[in-house]
Amino acid sequence: MFSFIAHLRSRKIEGPTMTQKNSLDSFPRAQLMTGPTPLERLDRLSSELGIDLWLKRDDLTGLGFGGNKTRQLEFYFGEALRQGADTILITGAVQSNFVRSAAAAAAKLGMQSVLQLEERVPDMGAEYYSSGNVLLAKILGAEHMSYPEGEDEAGADAALHARADELKSRGRKPYVIHLGLNHPPLGALGYVVAGQELCHQMPDFDAVVVPSGSGATHGGLLAGVVLEDNASTVFGVCVRRDHEKQKVRMNTVLQKLADLLEIDAVPLQDRINVLDEALPPGYGKLSGMTRAALEKMARTEGIFLDPVYSAKTFAGLLHLVNTGEIQPGQKVVMLHTGGLPALFGYQNELVNDLP
Ligand SMILES: *Cc1c(COP(=O)(O)O)cnc(C)c1O
Repeated sequence: MFSFIAHLRSRKIEGPTMTQKNSLDSFPRAQLMTGPTPLERLDRLSSELGIDLWLKRDDLTGLGFGGNKTRQLEFYFGEALRQGADTILITGAVQSNFVRSAAAAAAKLGMQSVLQLEERVPDMGAEYYSSGNVLLAKILGAEHMSYPEGEDEAGADAALHARADELKSRGRKPYVIHLGLNHPPLGALGYVVAGQELCHQMPDFDAVVVPSGSGATHGGLLAGVVLEDNASTVFGVCVRRDHEKQKVRMNTVLQKLADLLEIDAVPLQDRINVLDEALPPGYGKLSGMTRAALEKMARTEGIFLDPVYSAKTFAGLLHLVNTGEIQPGQKVVMLHTGGLPALFGYQNELVNDLP
């Protein structure tokens, strides 16, 4: 009876379904988390906003303070293990959750990690460089390098490769985790899994709101939802680039992901939906709008969001409610991607006046 009702209410697309030639099981995968993550209803925010609001708790993926990178790293470490690697190298912002999660995964799998930290966010206080994820990565025993630029993907990659070559010449077996667009987006596979997981947990949501940074989370989840023939809207909240640039990026991410899965990219690309109202003043920088969203979630539900991604995602969701793009009574899921250690790197921005 229950499944009959669920079927009636689910947002299944009519017509031919998409066929996937390469199943997710054909990719090597290291087990780093135990899923599925909880899907919780936010009762007080639901009544305040006049919608049916749910939170997909990917902040609770478990490994080393959790967050969305755990799912992505299952596929990168699967490949690294297949290649017999003993050291992983990765690059990211100073308060990157990706590099912290990668160092935790390396520890769990008995590997070493080299983290390259890029100067992406200007004018930050001392704790930005010493607390939060920086502190955790030190505890994890990772080797640190720094890169003076924040918007030079190719240069950062080249520096990482130089270090990998050096390690190789000393007999080590390095594996570089590539996040640039010229490499297959293995991490997005983790969010295909998550999108499918969400559709199984609750097939009848009208919209899901996710952060859109590198696009692995957004692109993967969108693909998972499409592969489940689910017609709900996937909103990507820009956290790094404006909506025009992000749309171009998402087209590429989805094309590369479709190539991996051997599916048609067009039905995925047709459903790209990005908004950038929560982005200013820029990547990793707080606005009054973002800080208000972070405080609202904490003060209404007792749940913390991070300043760089999930607070902007919630600010974007609030914007969609205010503009009527999310309508009263709709069933909406927000993806909580974690990132909480960064709170402690943003102490000044969180308690002092914003510029
Ligand atoms: C990296 C990160 C994101 C962005 O995910 P992408 O897959 O890069 O788009 C969102 N939230 C948190 C907490 C992150 O660490």
